[in-house]
Amino acid sequence: MQGYVESRFQARALLNGQVGANTSTAHNVYMPTARHRTRTSCNVDIPRLRRRLLKWYDRNRRDLPWRSDRPDPYAVWLSEMMLQQTQTATVAPYYAKFLEAFPDVFALAAASREDVLAMWAGLGYYRRAHNLHDAAKMVAELFDGAFPDTVDGLMKLPGVGRYSAGAIASIAFGVSAPILDGNVKRVLARIFAIQASPSESQTVGTLWSLSESVIPKKRCGDFNQALMDLGATVCNPKSPICNTCPLAGECLAKQRNLVDVIPTVRKRIKPKHLDLTALVIEAKGHVLLHQRDNSGLWAGMWELPNVEANGESIDSVCAKILPASICKSLGEIGRSRGVQHQLTHRTVRFNVYRASCNKTRLPKAYQWAKRDEALPLPKAFQKILSAV
Ligand code: SF4
Repeated sequence: MQGYVESRFQARALLNGQVGANTSTAHNVYMPTARHRTRTSCNVDIPRLRRRLLKWYDRNRRDLPWRSDRPDPYAVWLSEMMLQQTQTATVAPYYAKFLEAFPDVFALAAASREDVLAMWAGLGYYRRAHNLHDAAKMVAELFDGAFPDTVDGLMKLPGVGRYSAGAIASIAFGVSAPILDGNVKRVLARIFAIQASPSESQTVGTLWSLSESVIPKKRCGDFNQALMDLGATVCNPKSPICNTCPLAGECLAKQRNLVDVIPTVRKRIKPKHLDLTALVIEAKGHVLLHQRDNSGLWAGMWELPNVEANGESIDSVCAKILPASICKSLGEIGRSRGVQHQLTHRTVRFNVYRASCNKTRLPKAYQWAKRDEALPLPKAFQKILSAV
């Protein structure tokens, strides 16, 4: 509770622009009083923090495929879109594949939505692929291929929020713009001993202000990437490696023995279940696929025909979700082993049924696809096809 009050106090003071006011609290939690203040009342030496972090980054930066000494705004933007909610190791192969298929923003803008979704298949959060394609068209058609070079301009692109805009502006254009993702939140909360929950909106406001107060005017892209790298490799959520941390001398959480309790951990929400009945309908080595709407889960992607399970008989499920031409020639419907797939907030449990039929003409939004080809399906459906 104490931490929450402190954070609210700080955030309000920051937002009210109480620059120079004595805002340290009984717990002496850091309170920046100017954007590039050099030293705080609790001895966080910002210039030294910047120097140490950049020096560490020069020696320890992760070798990531989208990093370059001469960053291309298109490549930076593409990587930041892919990295939203997704880990670097997962993104790396998709990034390489994407750049090969769509080497610049014009190539991406000219591609069909279907090709973009197919290239994105398996990466998850499919709304991002739609936004990516819409933004590429906007940049190609309205800005003649040149990405906006300000945070405000970048935030006008579909799918670009404040974090992504700050990352792209600082890395691609050298703009001194702050960032705040999960890793950076944790690092800043520890350095400045913010004990309030980082899921509270007031705390988020405080952390944004702290991020703004530490970013230098020069090498801001490197500095932001250094914060990301420190959070990913040293200042880990569960076991931070404080004895090798370049910021150990500045870190208030370390000085006050608070490393284990910051950031405050939110109560784990029990994952929800989603029960679906999925159909593997085959004809002459081909499998029946259906294309989803452009909204919601797996937006616009191809899938195995499926529906939320509600106790209906399998015959009535088939009648409901299969084209009439398929239903007419459907052979015996057999139950296969169930498949489970974990999404971020939901566990999807599939009851899988399998049947053969004649290969008939199909209405729009359905297609036959060769089973042995790499199909552009979300991972959940790839899993089903490998299992049955
Ligand atoms: S000293 Fe420890 S807690 Fe503080 S920033 Fe470094 S790794 Fe994180």
